[in-house]
Amino acid sequence: MTAPEPSRAGVRLRPEIAALPPYRQGRPAPADGYKLSSNENPFDPLPSVASAVASTGATVNRYPDATALALRERLGARFGVTADEVLVGAGSVALLAAFIQAAAAPGDEVVYSWRSFEAYPGLVTVSGATSVQVPNRPDHGHDLDAMAAAINERTRVAIVCSPNNPTGVVVTAAEFEAFMAKVPSDLLVLLDEAYIEFVDREGPGSVDEAVDGRTLLGRYPNLVILRTFSKAYGLAGLRVGYAIGPVPILDAARATVIPLSVTAASSAAAIASLEPAAEAELLDRVGVIAARRDGVRAALIAQGWPIPQAQGNFIWLPSGEATTEVAERLFDAGLVTRAFAPDGIRISIGEPESVETLLTILSELVPASQEGRPA
Ligand SMILES: *Cc1c(COP(=O)(O)O)cnc(C)c1O
Repeated sequence: MTAPEPSRAGVRLRPEIAALPPYRQGRPAPADGYKLSSNENPFDPLPSVASAVASTGATVNRYPDATALALRERLGARFGVTADEVLVGAGSVALLAAFIQAAAAPGDEVVYSWRSFEAYPGLVTVSGATSVQVPNRPDHGHDLDAMAAAINERTRVAIVCSPNNPTGVVVTAAEFEAFMAKVPSDLLVLLDEAYIEFVDREGPGSVDEAVDGRTLLGRYPNLVILRTFSKAYGLAGLRVGYAIGPVPILDAARATVIPLSVTAASSAAAIASLEPAAEAELLDRVGVIAARRDGVRAALIAQGWPIPQAQGNFIWLPSGEATTEVAERLFDAGLVTRAFAPDGIRISIGEPESVETLLTILSELVPASQEGRPA
């Protein structure tokens, strides 16, 4: 038996873990610049939410309610399910990790589209399972037929991300239902809907055919939907997300999730965000961000950039080999973006003041081969 190589850490680590890139947060925005790299909500927290958080300050010597029952009840009522069919976690990334660990181990496979959410590969590696990445279609959407074809007896989890981070393209309800009909009913399917609130369902350019996990609840014994308060609800800093699905699957994830990781402050902020007046205001802001996104996309397409469908709070710039150079130019102009060389750049829709700079810089960098070409 060969001992694992001593790692840089000087202790024996799992080699596949030692080889993982540590999480690197986007560079902070320069003074007078804008951070458009983490899909954060640019609006300040609502006063009612900030005061709900502050009110939890007096009890921080106590552990939080381990199951976040009050929040689960609120969510259950909203989605027409019992509180037991809701699991709350420290961001939906923590829930993704819990579900993957509950279902997949060494020798097993986890199938997902690629490029998709950058956290998926690391979460799968940590579980010990193997990632099977199915290339996106040329339009940057999921190729669900190819994903279904990649499923075999070793597959334990399939992850579908709609709208897809970082490309912005949605999966349609018809595509998703056809996928569910093809995959084995004992295969866990995670539908990651971190950006669902930004999907435009009416008006010009709407995608009313986009999948909405809410309409699928109760229909499949193997489907779990994942949502978050980080993006549309502007609570990224508090770490709170939720899963809805069949109780036996959620029970397995309750066993793998780190206990007590949703704090009283996080629960209080989420509950305050669901109060009708607060939520109406938050969803108005979502509408503002979505309209800004549509404006940015249209302007970039007019410049000659082939921007795919954009239904999250970000757009995807397929800058190819020029990715690093374009991201540097944006950075020099004060805009921090997320570059995925050599594919493209994800640009969050942030403050209105960032838009003019963005459009000016990108107008100077349109690849010659793209100029004048329709997207
Ligand atoms: C942001 C994001 C999440 C969740 O983030 P949390 O802050 O952990 O809730 C999940 N999936 C995708 C695709 C995301 O972009």
